[in-house]
Amino acid sequence: MSVQLRSALAELPAYAPGRNVPGAIKLASNELSFPPLPAVADAIAGAVADSSATAQSGVNRYPDNGAAALLQKLSEATGVPTGNLIAGCGSVALCQQLVQIVAGAEDALPQPDSPDPQLPEVVFGWRSFEAYPIVTQIAGATPVRVPLTADHQLDLDAMAQAVTPATRLIFLCSPNNPTGTALSAPAVEAFLDSVPSDVLVVLDEAYREFNRADNVPDGAALALARPNVVALRTLSKAYGLAGLRVGYAIAAPDVIAALSKVAIPFALNTLAQAAAVAALGQCDELQPRWDEVVAERKRVTDALLAQGYQVPPSQANFVWLPLEDDSARFSAHCEQAGVTVRGFSHANGGGVRVTIGRPDENDAFLTAAASFDRKER
Ligand SMILES: *Cc1c(COP(=O)(O)O)cnc(C)c1O
Repeated sequence: MSVQLRSALAELPAYAPGRNVPGAIKLASNELSFPPLPAVADAIAGAVADSSATAQSGVNRYPDNGAAALLQKLSEATGVPTGNLIAGCGSVALCQQLVQIVAGAEDALPQPDSPDPQLPEVVFGWRSFEAYPIVTQIAGATPVRVPLTADHQLDLDAMAQAVTPATRLIFLCSPNNPTGTALSAPAVEAFLDSVPSDVLVVLDEAYREFNRADNVPDGAALALARPNVVALRTLSKAYGLAGLRVGYAIAAPDVIAALSKVAIPFALNTLAQAAAVAALGQCDELQPRWDEVVAERKRVTDALLAQGYQVPPSQANFVWLPLEDDSARFSAHCEQAGVTVRGFSHANGGGVRVTIGRPDENDAFLTAAASFDRKER
């Protein structure tokens, strides 16, 4: 007899990572294509073994569960007090923790016209980051997917209207993964004014370093000013640490305390903490990399438009091709040409997300895109 698994898992989509194809150029997971900075590699190597007589931080020891040195460094980098900061094993772990602290099935509301209680709800745009529905369903809450506008933006009016007494959390992803579109500061402020102040609003700023729009919302300032707002950031993308898993949240102290209650102990490992501290000190080295990505984003967008593709304006380190039914065939075509991209083949809102890599990698992608046989673009 097989074990009894939670019924909630049956409907759970498995997270589909970007494919790793040996020998191919990988433009599928929004990583930074540059190699790790020497200072970061040195910090990792140094953290492996602490050889002093009173060695307390080699990998034979548990990591610092509170990540004190990292929080101190984050505080200096962001101007946010350490009491408003928490680090996690990737910001995706913090997404899961955020849902866990507000949306448990035990808090379902009785319904007047139904014997079934109403489960807590988590609202997000769709398409948006594909971890949102997964972490929501794992918590036993109900995902509420609000369709994007026709121009691939989060529909803030519709999201505000989707709020019910059961809503516990709203994810706003800006720039939005996978469409690259970004929200303006006034739009976010107006949205926050329009939703109940006891609903947690998470501004996921995973791609903020690539956002060059006017009026970029500042999640840190919003989270310090409003007790129901959380800013979520990661070192996986712009800081080039995807393989080490470091993200952080900025929030009111009671939210931070709740997040630390549901954290897996020691989830942020010693090497990740050391690398993150080092990377945060390397902004002068990183800025030219971000600038190259931004310049390449424009070059790739312009070239794709000239080839006849529709490309929504992106403020992230990727572009979105809303190819609908052609998405799977386009992804396969690129892979055949030695470039892996990330296809999302769904009846509603299918498309292909292409990470901006180094210029030669982008050239390889553009060559593949140019030779794609599409009836009409
Ligand atoms: C990549 C990404 C993250 C999380 O990244 P981690 O590697 O878990 O820190 C979070 N949100 C969005 C929208 C992302 O695209």
